[in-house]
Amino acid sequence: MGEFELIQRFFTRPTRHAVLGVGDDCALLAPAPGMQMAISSDMLVSGRHFFPDVDPRTLGHKALAVNLSDLAACGARPVAFTLALALPEANAAWLEPFSQGLLALADAHGCELIGGDTTQGPLNICITVFGEVPAGQALLRSGARAGDDLYVSGTLGDARLALEALQGKITLPPEVLAQTRIRMDQPTPRVALGLALRGVASAAADVSDGLLGDLGHILQRSGVGATIQTENATHLIAACAHSTGATGLFGLEISANKALQCVLSGGDDYELVFTAPAHRRAAVQAAAQSSHTPVTCIGQVDAAPGLRLVDAAGAAVANDFASFDHFA
Ligand code: ADP
Ligand code: MG
Repeated sequence: MGEFELIQRFFTRPTRHAVLGVGDDCALLAPAPGMQMAISSDMLVSGRHFFPDVDPRTLGHKALAVNLSDLAACGARPVAFTLALALPEANAAWLEPFSQGLLALADAHGCELIGGDTTQGPLNICITVFGEVPAGQALLRSGARAGDDLYVSGTLGDARLALEALQGKITLPPEVLAQTRIRMDQPTPRVALGLALRGVASAAADVSDGLLGDLGHILQRSGVGATIQTENATHLIAACAHSTGATGLFGLEISANKALQCVLSGGDDYELVFTAPAHRRAAVQAAAQSSHTPVTCIGQVDAAPGLRLVDAAGAAVANDFASFDHFA
């Protein structure tokens, strides 16, 4: 199978919204009047972002999911994407499930594959997504204000728990590993919540490298600080649903500190962290309901710079939870 047969067979589909899709030198998009385009790229490198033997179907899903998550964080509606692919070989048995996982998620969000590039090389997947947002309504990292509530969507920490179990650092019961592994391999981009938070959230980001690090970007760009109640944060780890109360935290052989570490600094969850003025609490709950996405208030934005962790009694909790940094 040659390069062009590969593109034709696995990555060429009729477009419905784009003016021109795969097959020419460029694709063409026509943004609707009054809309801005939100654009973001994410690259997944074998051995760096995923295990080389990962199921190609889940890899296809994840490659697009992490990009859609950026659109979600901006409150943008997915429109289209391009796929730049380096492959060791043109293997149909791998490409078939990869393209199926990718395109199933694309279809679920009405996001069209409009072009890309294909080359031989070490497995590497780079996607660029294009989304639409009414002019001036994108959710930015820079809008958090002192006094705002601080929220996260869904659950946090389970992807990290699965990673540590697969690396042999911790032991999880098989059913808990299976559950948490879905979170690591097949994240759910919070697109509907991002759209519902337009005009409600003051700032937002998606959690890809760890809550504290990604929240840190919001705080820095907004020129504010924040306090997190660790009690609320610890309960965000979904593995607690498997609590038997037998041993350790949630019945698992992990310490409370390990759970907190997974929640605060574990990456790969692709939830949203966002802020909203206290008087918009009802609107935040309405956004959560309409998007069928749970949200939890975990703290407040402060005028004083820096990030503080406090326990249920308000006492300071030592913060030695580092986020992921490729070059640190
Ligand atoms: P060029 O030589 O102009 O860069 P290519 O020959 O690489 O174009 O690609 C031919 C067409 O196939 C282009 O429209 C390009 O966008 C598309 N394409 C290439 N690789 C992919 C891919 N992995 N997924 C989707 N479209 C692709
Ligand atoms: Mg060309």
